[in-house]
Amino acid sequence: MTETTTFTIQGTGVVPGYAYAPVIWATARPTLPSGGAPVPEDRREDEVARFNAAAGAVADRLAARASAATGVAAEVLGATASLARDRGWARAVAKLVKGGTSAEVATVGATEQFVETFQKMGGLMAERATDLRDIRDRVVAELSGQPEPGIPHSETAAVLLAEDLAPADTAGLDPATIVALVTRLGGPTSHTAIIARQLGIPCIVAAAGLDRIEEGTAVLVDGTRGLVEIGIDPAVAEERVTEDAARREAIRVWSGPAQTKDGVHVQVLANVQDGASARKSAETQAEGIGLFRTELSFLSAQTEPSIEEQADLYAEVFGAFPGGKVVVRTLDAGSDKPVPFANHQKEENPALGVRGMRLDRTNEGLLARQLDALAEGARRAQVDKPWVMAPMVSTVDEARLFSALARERGISPGIMVEVPAVAILADAFMAEVDFFSIGTNDLTQYTLAADRMSSPLATLTDPWQPAVLRLIAMTAAAGERAGKPVGVCGEAAADPLLACVLLGLGVTSLSMAPTAIPAVGVQLATVTLEQCRAAAQEVLATSTSLEAKERAAELL
Ligand code: PEP
Ligand code: MG
Repeated sequence: MTETTTFTIQGTGVVPGYAYAPVIWATARPTLPSGGAPVPEDRREDEVARFNAAAGAVADRLAARASAATGVAAEVLGATASLARDRGWARAVAKLVKGGTSAEVATVGATEQFVETFQKMGGLMAERATDLRDIRDRVVAELSGQPEPGIPHSETAAVLLAEDLAPADTAGLDPATIVALVTRLGGPTSHTAIIARQLGIPCIVAAAGLDRIEEGTAVLVDGTRGLVEIGIDPAVAEERVTEDAARREAIRVWSGPAQTKDGVHVQVLANVQDGASARKSAETQAEGIGLFRTELSFLSAQTEPSIEEQADLYAEVFGAFPGGKVVVRTLDAGSDKPVPFANHQKEENPALGVRGMRLDRTNEGLLARQLDALAEGARRAQVDKPWVMAPMVSTVDEARLFSALARERGISPGIMVEVPAVAILADAFMAEVDFFSIGTNDLTQYTLAADRMSSPLATLTDPWQPAVLRLIAMTAAAGERAGKPVGVCGEAAADPLLACVLLGLGVTSLSMAPTAIPAVGVQLATVTLEQCRAAAQEVLATSTSLEAKERAAELL
């Protein structure tokens, strides 16, 4: 018998909960060819056909998985299947094969050409590089008889470990057998985290040293603290999982409304991106919309939609919650979400460049036209005084300008708090507007000077960083002094434990992906407002994100 080694691996917990099971490793990526003898001219047509057959087989498999899946999973698999059928990509491969390279080498070469173009475009387009390389690997595996990369089938419960997971891998996961996800790379907003949140399984990303864990080893995953424990007493592990099962069942049956144990109501709202997601959110426990990311409706628009077209969209979103709260955000084009008609300049450092409210400096009239359309959309949906906020505000002058443009149109103005400068001067900003909404994703990125898309920096882009919590506290305090609402609409609001801390810091509403609401609701019901306030004060006194999380977990 081998002695069990006991050790712990620390990562960034992104979906809370416990799971205990043996691990399986996602199948490694295939070995990619780099050269080889040229293909004789008379065999090149066959070589193109061989590529087409392989790409077709991969696309068919993904499409079959898409039709067996539902929701986001089906969308992701469907989108990946269509990438495998992309004509432009197939033409690029055929061109290389006709020049004499093998189908495998041509697949790699053509993919890199596309990846380069996407990466030059930056932001969300650059993220598609992961999808393209995933397709490349599947096709190369098919061509060269290597196992298809991805998740091995498991009949029994297993914790899935991987370097990183491609969207197509995570989309087909079965939560009946895969009970937790742990990746060595990835960040709090990575695909892995999003899908794990949707499936409701514990998830840890950026777990350094993960490769020390061998296939089949039983591990306890603690998604709250970001810990993977190896060699733990099985009885202790099972006990924690059993306790957690009760919490998960409570989440499954939770029907709202959100309130603390002592009956204090907490406004929970949805983050949406278009009319369809707004209507869908109205079927959940969301009491309204706390963030409508308008730019996500226009990611591929080459020309600016007319005021009429925009008004239709806004009226549709307002219509999802008749008489309810709907907070619209003006275009946050730029950086990770470039919009072709709005962002024209190539920037060296787009996260620090012309994005959000700053577009008003380069695209004259764009903001005013959007506000005209919003006022028209609100009129059509019979909303008296719509709430509209500007993203990426960093000076009081910008807040004043936005406020004036909105008020002229009968709109109630607010701003997002995403730049530390706003939290530091919160009272001066609050004097200009009616409300704040804290965007913790960007506030964390700008406070820690760490790219929110970077997986090696996942421990920095964690909203539990005490410096971020202090800025949130300063912002909420300014709201309290002015008697104006301060919501949170970044990912922090979807973290059940952090949601309680935010409430304790004085935040007045929490807006999140609707699927995250029940877990937050269940956690809020276990604590009193007083407990949240006490925990918030304790957490403010910590100096590391881990310490902050542990202190909060002890107290709440
Ligand atoms: C945020 O920054 O937290 C936010 C909600 O805005 P987005 O994620 O769209 O940048
Ligand atoms: Mg933001």
